[in-house]
Amino acid sequence: MEMRDKVNFVLSERLASFEGLVHGFADRSAGADASIIEKHFNLSRLAQLKQVHSGDVVIVNDPENHHNLTEGDALVTRLKGVGIGIRTADCVPILIVDKGNSVIAAVHGGWRGTLSEIADNTVRVIQSNYGVCPSELTAVIGPSIKKCCYEVGEDVASLFKEKFDNTDQYLFESTKSKYFLDLSIANRLQLQRVGVADIEVIDICTKCNESFFSYRREGKGVSTQLSCIGLKR
Ligand SMILES: [Zn+2]
Repeated sequence: MEMRDKVNFVLSERLASFEGLVHGFADRSAGADASIIEKHFNLSRLAQLKQVHSGDVVIVNDPENHHNLTEGDALVTRLKGVGIGIRTADCVPILIVDKGNSVIAAVHGGWRGTLSEIADNTVRVIQSNYGVCPSELTAVIGPSIKKCCYEVGEDVASLFKEKFDNTDQYLFESTKSKYFLDLSIANRLQLQRVGVADIEVIDICTKCNESFFSYRREGKGVSTQLSCIGLKR
């Protein structure tokens, strides 16, 4: 008999208040095991992507024709009973739903994706394809590496400074030519700029908290954890 410890998910208070929705930010107990997550949330399948740190958004219309090697970094769907999930180990997972519970999204925001405005792009795809206004959306920024632990060089910092205003809200100079980058805040600002008002940021740093896989703590070859969202069938 196979024995498995209980699996843990961090839940968002905001998303938990939606009827007809399932969601969870897995820690290392479930990790990236889609079958555990499908079973736990009673989903027929969990659609994923080949994540490439892009700004590209993929709409899942037909789960039969979606394969997890489609390249992109955000998924959008209106299908019921089909989950969408993204894998992270420090990068920022963002889960989105509209007030009418008619469309959901899951976003992978590492520094490159954030620089490519993946969160903005996702909101725009939802608006242009389904006519859902950004002000109707709730977005939750999940467990990820926070500014306490995410030091980057001048090379990365300058890319943000060249492209965006207000970087003083999420880039903090540390020692000479180094910066602490708060990707949660960078993504929150992007979502606000595009018109999303209801945003929750979960205050868990994946490097500080050993329940989570962390690239910065564990290095190359680290596993990932899935963050998922689905409309109930
Ligand atoms: Zn930390």
